[in-house]
Amino acid sequence: MSSKVLDKFLKENLNDLKEKGLYNVIDPLESANGPIIKIGGKELINLSSNNYLGLATNEELIKACNEATTKYGVGAGAVRTINGTLDIHIKLEEKLASFKHTESAIVFQSGFNCNAGAIQAVMDKNDAILSDELNHASIIDGCRLSRAKIIRYNHSDMNDLRQKAKEAKESGLYNKIMIITDGVFSMDGDIAKLPEIVKIAEEFDLITYVDDAHGSGVLGKGSGTVKHFGLSDKVDFQIGTLSKAIGVVGGYVAGKKDLIDWLKVRARPFLFSTSLTPGSAAACIKAIDILTESTALHDKLWENGNYLKKGLRELGFNIGNSETPITPCIIGDESKTQEFSKRLYEEGVYAKSIVFPTVPKGTGRVRNMPTAAHTKEILDKALSIYEKVGKDLGIL
Ligand SMILES: *Cc1c(COP(=O)(O)O)cnc(C)c1O
Repeated sequence: MSSKVLDKFLKENLNDLKEKGLYNVIDPLESANGPIIKIGGKELINLSSNNYLGLATNEELIKACNEATTKYGVGAGAVRTINGTLDIHIKLEEKLASFKHTESAIVFQSGFNCNAGAIQAVMDKNDAILSDELNHASIIDGCRLSRAKIIRYNHSDMNDLRQKAKEAKESGLYNKIMIITDGVFSMDGDIAKLPEIVKIAEEFDLITYVDDAHGSGVLGKGSGTVKHFGLSDKVDFQIGTLSKAIGVVGGYVAGKKDLIDWLKVRARPFLFSTSLTPGSAAACIKAIDILTESTALHDKLWENGNYLKKGLRELGFNIGNSETPITPCIIGDESKTQEFSKRLYEEGVYAKSIVFPTVPKGTGRVRNMPTAAHTKEILDKALSIYEKVGKDLGIL
């Protein structure tokens, strides 16, 4: 028999969400996550994935994955520290270190796990963490797990950061202080002000931690936000994911050898959760090879991003101040935003609405993630649908 307390809790809260229109129904895809997807038998232009470079369906990655699966099997069989470290895991880490221009790197099962493991491996209750208010949920959880004092600063507000770093330092309350930020913020597509952050870190002796999930493969000719600013030797932790631009699954921390050695003995998801599958590791290696050999996919992504932005702007939409291919189309009102996304869907564009509390009240938006795999033809079709729906709803 199930718990009555639990039953009541679930029923009440699910009903509450449904009444408020906040219950998210998940649409299962009946196709690969490419530029065109199939949902409920209907083909849609996909502007919602994080598959920036189209690598999720790349033939070379699929081949590498299949070959590794044939050689090593479908699962790694154990956590890394028992006997789940395959030679391809090591090879992937070496590739990532050179891709990121760091001494060393460690691979986790996801970007989320990196943050769940790396922060608490070095920070504890006698420390403090300065955290951008718009940081990703996994950073927030990672900070909480460390039990360090969390000091939020206003989004990309360098005066606020400097003031709070100064106060924390001068209070004498903390052994270590860390500054932690997304490299690229996923809701607006803006880039963290890393040169200023590094300067403040040097002034107050802060540990620097940049989660570049949305910047890797996109900025710095693919190497990420830290490289984009030429700060590879100035940032202690560079976090990346293998599930967005790289197109597979997994995450990594790149940094000095001592840091990575420490994470290998202290990061809990590394120690207590089975390693990346062999197929995934091999596909990631192939992806890094492709990105290292040529910037063609990266260039195509930017070309498509700029094309979509220009098109939406010319139609008269508010696309915010994105500095990356992430293209928000800001509608404002929450229910109008949801209506807009629903109408796009009916007309054949899959672009999700993002509203409060994920973004501030009154800044509801439909977020577009163009990729290198989109063609001009597909983007033109999407733009014509945007125009139609924008006019239908009185936005244009
Ligand atoms: C997506 C994202 C993650 C999570 O990465 P996964 O590999 O999907 O777990 C972590 N941090 C940031 C900033 C992200 O955008």
